Amino acid sequence: MASLSQPASEPNTSPLAKFIWGPENLQRRCDLLKELPQHAIFKNEVNLAALSRRDHWAYRVQQAQALIGIWLKKGWSRDHFLDANRMIGEMPCSPQFRIFFKNIQAQMSPEQKAFWIPKVERFEILGCYAQTEVGHGSNLRGIETSATFDSTTDEFILESPTVSSSKIWIGALGAWATHAIVVSRLIVNGHDHGNHLFMVQVRDLKTHDVLPGITIYEQRDKTLNTLRGLDNGVMRFFGHRIPRSQMFAGSSSLSRDGTYNPPINKNHSYTSMVIIRGLLSSELGLDAMKALYIAAHYVAFRRQFGANPGGMETRVIDYASVKNRLFPAIAREVAIILNGRQITAAIEERLGTNMEDMHIMSVGGKVYASEHAARDVEIARLLCGGHGTHESAGLGRSYTLLSAARTYEGDSYVISLQLGRAITKCWQRGGEDTLPALGYLRRLRKPTAYQQRLRQDESQAWHDRAVQDDVLEQRVSILAGQFLEDTRKGKDTSFQVLELTMAHTDLHYVRGLYSALESSPEEGKMALKALANLFTISTLVNGLSTFAGSDYLSYNDIRSMKEAYQTALVEFEPHVPCILGAFAFTPWETRSSLCPVDKSPYDAIVGHAMGSELNDNRFMRPTILNIRSLWKNQQESRL
Ligand SMILES: Cc1cc2nc3c(=O)[nH]c(=O)nc-3n(C[C@H](O)[C@H](O)[C@H](O)COP(=O)(O)OP(=O)(O)OC[C@H]3O[C@@H](n4cnc5c(N)ncnc54)[C@H](O)[C@@H]3O)c2cc1C
Repeated sequence: MASLSQPASEPNTSPLAKFIWGPENLQRRCDLLKELPQHAIFKNEVNLAALSRRDHWAYRVQQAQALIGIWLKKGWSRDHFLDANRMIGEMPCSPQFRIFFKNIQAQMSPEQKAFWIPKVERFEILGCYAQTEVGHGSNLRGIETSATFDSTTDEFILESPTVSSSKIWIGALGAWATHAIVVSRLIVNGHDHGNHLFMVQVRDLKTHDVLPGITIYEQRDKTLNTLRGLDNGVMRFFGHRIPRSQMFAGSSSLSRDGTYNPPINKNHSYTSMVIIRGLLSSELGLDAMKALYIAAHYVAFRRQFGANPGGMETRVIDYASVKNRLFPAIAREVAIILNGRQITAAIEERLGTNMEDMHIMSVGGKVYASEHAARDVEIARLLCGGHGTHESAGLGRSYTLLSAARTYEGDSYVISLQLGRAITKCWQRGGEDTLPALGYLRRLRKPTAYQQRLRQDESQAWHDRAVQDDVLEQRVSILAGQFLEDTRKGKDTSFQVLELTMAHTDLHYVRGLYSALESSPEEGKMALKALANLFTISTLVNGLSTFAGSDYLSYNDIRSMKEAYQTALVEFEPHVPCILGAFAFTPWETRSSLCPVDKSPYDAIVGHAMGSELNDNRFMRPTILNIRSLWKNQQESRL
């Protein structure tokens, strides 16, 4: 393949880079890259992995302090702050403009927003979002925390009646937050109105002590050191009181006399979830892409086996085992980034209107991005062999972040059930003509109108968009048909629904990618076309098992499809440097010993080992020497 140039030392601002990042995102990234690395606290000089949990968290708090200071001084946008969080890594201030602000924005009344938003934007209050309970995560109907209205004082009394009602996993609650948005049942005159949101101050604003009537514990370490700088917390309420005005009143509200005004528009309750899942749909792709960027540069440098002219070994990127994993993953993550951004933009545009299709779209986007991102980062690590496992490679850091994303903001299987419900509803009311996302249900309604036997034994045919689209639609319609049949029979469909969601999103992401390419710059058109073709055909090949036993594809079709995939791979190969060049992650962003700009990866890896704190191991030498003489004591005692 054409040689992969040096890793970038500066962001690329070419038309292709603008297209891939999005012009505003790229501008923000440039602003941040110009400013943040100048500050000592952001220079990546501290080996965070070597710090104790306590010191790590303390360091992250200092970084948060510096970032908030810079952000206020520069007058940057909230999006700048969100992007900076993503670049620096988890800090306790991460939830402030994500889940905390987004819920206030989507679910408070205008008067409440006028009161709370300035405090949030000044960081006068520090926020978190407390929904999950020890006994209730996915099933929010089971939430036990209660907010009972006391009409004599015009307050709510918060109670966590059992251990299982303790709030848990709450990011930034353990030691940082002053306020929590608490999801709790609303009880008025003994009547349970279900879950509502409440703004609850949890710490004293002068002393930072936890307020009376509340207990908070920091949750301790998470597996694989996931989100180590974030203090997830466990919280219980014991008769803690808050004013009535702190119930979120954007849709439902409670009058002074205890009259409950139910929501007119039920969309409100899931708007913030839709926004955050939309955001994750593209952000996770960028994180995975960064890992693939590191891996690609390393495998282009690394040589193993095979004598070439001049006695050089073969670059590992030239092996089929590497290309077949790396190139489709790059294509997939670009598709995820571009589609995810379209989802975010569509959600922004549709705020306040009927969001049913946005809801489905954001579920598909979040599930697809998190499932693929975790796997693609693992691919990146495996491609780098043993060196991929160094902490300094940076791939483990990405993996822990992305793997957890399959659970937070909704477990992949559980939220996929929402697509299943939408399909069932649409099927029952015959709504596929009005909900374009589910248009493939027409194939089940009128099977004879569609080809039941696709015969494409020439590999060239698989590069045709109409043929590609037919297979993707047919596949998701088969899965939807099985799902509907199993639902009718009363079977538990919660396993198959993930495959259905992935197939649904495969179809829409291929379509979305091609439609995005219509506005791509001339400079990158060829590269993006080859990328889209590889993404599509690799998706077709990965989905082949759905057709087992069906008449739709013959043995020859499958053989020619696999040939077409190999052609797509070969055609994409020369464009890989151009695509990676558009991402141009800087060393400050990658923080990886596998793609440094000023030295070789080998120098970086060995240099890193030279800095190990165990190189001076004199403090344990007496113990080691003693261990080596233990056998003598045993021998003497036997004599
Ligand atoms: C790193 C991290 C950060 C988090 N941050 C926050 C936060 O800031 N605030 C907050 O409120 N929460 C937070 N959470 C909690 C998170 O939202 C929940 O963990 C998540 O919603 C899943 O719920 P659960 O843990 O109860 O899993 P469970 O619901 O207990 O799921 C366990 C298993 O059962 C399966 N399952 C559950 N229900 C069904 C079903 N109906 N059908 C089929 N299978 C099912 C799931 O697929 C899963 O495999 C965080 C979690 C993590 C890991």
